Amino acid sequence: MTQELWSKVDDYINESLVPGDAALENAVKKSNEAGLPQIQVSPSQGKLLQVLACIIKAKRILEIGTLGAYSTIWLARALPPDGKLITLEINPRYAEVARRNLQSAHLSPKVTVKVGPALESLSHLQTAGEAPFDLVFIDADKEGYPKYLQKALPLLREGGLVLADNALPDAVLDPKTDHGIKRFNAELSAHPDLISVLVPVLRSRGFEGLTISAKQRL
Ligand code: SAH
Ligand code: MG
Repeated sequence: MTQELWSKVDDYINESLVPGDAALENAVKKSNEAGLPQIQVSPSQGKLLQVLACIIKAKRILEIGTLGAYSTIWLARALPPDGKLITLEINPRYAEVARRNLQSAHLSPKVTVKVGPALESLSHLQTAGEAPFDLVFIDADKEGYPKYLQKALPLLREGGLVLADNALPDAVLDPKTDHGIKRFNAELSAHPDLISVLVPVLRSRGFEGLTISAKQRL
């Protein structure tokens, strides 16, 4: 498929099944105005995250990598009224933009943005004795993915989902390069508690990989 065809298909999917939405559009606009990098999930991928969270009736979601809270808004919309989402972001300036975007989307009561390196925040969550999460979405620095998986798995309930964005960088096709995502995908595949798949998802300028893993009931 050519790039042009990908764009057309992605446009069709968005126009037919992912209608425009003031809160999401506002989040993108405010994030761009604040100079945040434009690396959020696409509308159709955001919707996919929401649908997956709905399927498992997620009540507690953990996100690693907030940026301007675009994916956070999609995921938080899957939550019931007493649901909770905790999202981890290293950059305090991004976290501020995210908090404002969540407020405009009326989602502040359900979402906590925790500022700091994700590994430290994950350790805090563990020692704080947080209730288990139903879904973990990994989308921060790619070298960190294997460690995030290790730290997040004990926080996930049996039957819960681990999702990870950007799982198909060019490096995966080059047998000679080492890459955090390559190690991450290998660990998913070898993990005895996980059943995993890697799916390409369209973005307007090509595609990205999303891994979907279910934590098996033991
Ligand atoms: N999930 C967002 C995009 C996240 S982009 C969306 O789709 O809308 C990746 C984010 O991870 C950036 O905001 C970056 O600042 C953050 N990040 C990078 N390294 C991190 C770390 N060690 N701990 C926490 N967040 C980190
Ligand atoms: Mg991403």
